[in-house]
Amino acid sequence: MIQFTNVSKIYSNGARALVDINLTIENGEFVFLVGPSGAGKSTLIRLLYREETPTRGQVIINGKNLLRMRDHDVPRLRRNIGVIFQDFRLLPSKTVFENVAFALEVIGMSKNEVRDRTRQALDLVGLASKEKVFPNELSGGEQQRISVARAIVNNPALLVADEPTGNLDPETAWGIMDLLYNINKRGTTVVMATHARDIVDQMQKRVIAIENGKVARDDQQGGYGYVD
Ligand code: ADP
Ligand code: ADP
Repeated sequence: MIQFTNVSKIYSNGARALVDINLTIENGEFVFLVGPSGAGKSTLIRLLYREETPTRGQVIINGKNLLRMRDHDVPRLRRNIGVIFQDFRLLPSKTVFENVAFALEVIGMSKNEVRDRTRQALDLVGLASKEKVFPNELSGGEQQRISVARAIVNNPALLVADEPTGNLDPETAWGIMDLLYNINKRGTTVVMATHARDIVDQMQKRVIAIENGKVARDDQQGGYGYVD
């Protein structure tokens, strides 16, 4: 479903974030991206939802070449990709319900369907009772659960997460990992950049290590492999 062919990304300031990356990720895989800070993990993630485009090479997702994609086709791509960030990025002036429902409203779904799907997503993350609350009234772990609900409410084929547990204590982090694990079990491909060594070591999923913009290691059931 995801194919990188000779992908390089050089930012306008000259930073060589990715150098000649070749990579295939199949439907339904769970993939950890690991590596030192500045290695290029976030850049790789941003290429997936076309927040960035490659300087050279091709990124193909479900047969679509992201470089050739026109700007007006990007919203459709993004509807099929859920994104989770370290800092949650919920809208502070919207309630929990509104934060999750927003992604459905913008595609013109009926009010009833928006309500049903939003409640389903909130149920899945165990926070249906918080739908009327504002994000700043929630703990970090709860806010991240809401952002998971927002990411999956469209039932995307691909979920990408950039350090989703980076601001959470270990217990809370495992709660988020259980959600991602179950979402992946239902068929969604998950690509997650992380520094959480214990999580990577315990879950025994595919591990791709990025160092200096290159793939340094790619293990089907890997470990974290760094001491940082
Ligand atoms: P990681 O996620 O592994 O920490 P990044 O993808 O954020 O790595 O960064 C890779 C390299 O690209 C670093 O040298 C970083 O400074 C640079 N970089 C990242 N984002 C930008 C940007 N928007 N503009 C310029 N350089 C950037
Ligand atoms: P499975 O059900 O196939 O064993 P899990 O994702 O439940 O897969 O577990 C994968 C690994 O992650 C296991 O080694 C398990 O110990 C660890 N793990 C999963 N959830 C937690 C958790 N809440 N706390 C600690 N470790 C966990």
